[in-house]
Amino acid sequence: AAEFQDLARSLNHMAGRFRADIHELQRMQRVQNEFIGNVSHEVKNPIFAVFGYLEALASESLPAEQRKRYAQKGLANLQRLNTLFSDLIEIAKLEYREDQIRPTAFDLQDLIGEIGEMLDPKAEAKGLELTYDNDALWVEADRNRIRQVLTNLIDNAIAYSDEGTVKCRMRRHLDKARVEVVDTGRGIPEDHLDRIFERFYRVDAARSRKEGGTGLGLAIVKQILEAHGSTIHVESTKGRGTRFWFELPLAETAGGDGAVTQAKT
Ligand code: ADP
Repeated sequence: AAEFQDLARSLNHMAGRFRADIHELQRMQRVQNEFIGNVSHEVKNPIFAVFGYLEALASESLPAEQRKRYAQKGLANLQRLNTLFSDLIEIAKLEYREDQIRPTAFDLQDLIGEIGEMLDPKAEAKGLELTYDNDALWVEADRNRIRQVLTNLIDNAIAYSDEGTVKCRMRRHLDKARVEVVDTGRGIPEDHLDRIFERFYRVDAARSRKEGGTGLGLAIVKQILEAHGSTIHVESTKGRGTRFWFELPLAETAGGDGAVTQAKT
């Protein structure tokens, strides 16, 4: 009888694990279905809009002013589709190809200079002050991917701030480089904080779309940093601002401390 009890216990244990596996598979299936649903929803609207504007342009004799407006709206929707597809391709690549991360040693200060050139005009147009405060730091990471991480974070900080400052700060912290993007914008309500890294999750979808957001930016940031063995952190207070930060390994240099002078020897 004891043997049967043992057998029953192991069978019960196996059944429990099996149930857990099935639940996990069902959960993954649900996430996948939701993702496909979201993609088709996001794609449909701009495609229908482009159809609408092109049809109007082709069939009606519109005043020049209106033609111009329709053409511009059509183009804006195409631009939206283009951004959406680049983001989707990025996510797929990161998910299915392990060789996507190619670490090299590079100077973070250089990189932030490049990003600033691209984003300064956007901050200026919104009357925001965009400042950089950084130590000269060499890190070992995939430069293009880290460019994308920083671009997405700073772009969001600008998009979700109506006034104040956006600061990008880089400091050596123990044996790592710590990178922070801090804004004094609208902030993120606490109950949304752990969901903003999900694909297509937005606190305010209308605002995000107005800013040209796809809802994929932070999902990409998280995936890129995880592929580097790093993590993205966030702190935020609604109405006061948000701080995102992450760490990267310092480059192996002559002095081993990531400082520019050592890196050049
Ligand atoms: P989106 O394309 O909508 O910006 P993201 O994945 O980049 O998508 O961000 C997800 C959501 O997180 C945004 O829609 C916004 O609600 C919120 N968010 C991201 N960054 C910030 C920020 N710096 N301040 C306030 N809210 C933010």
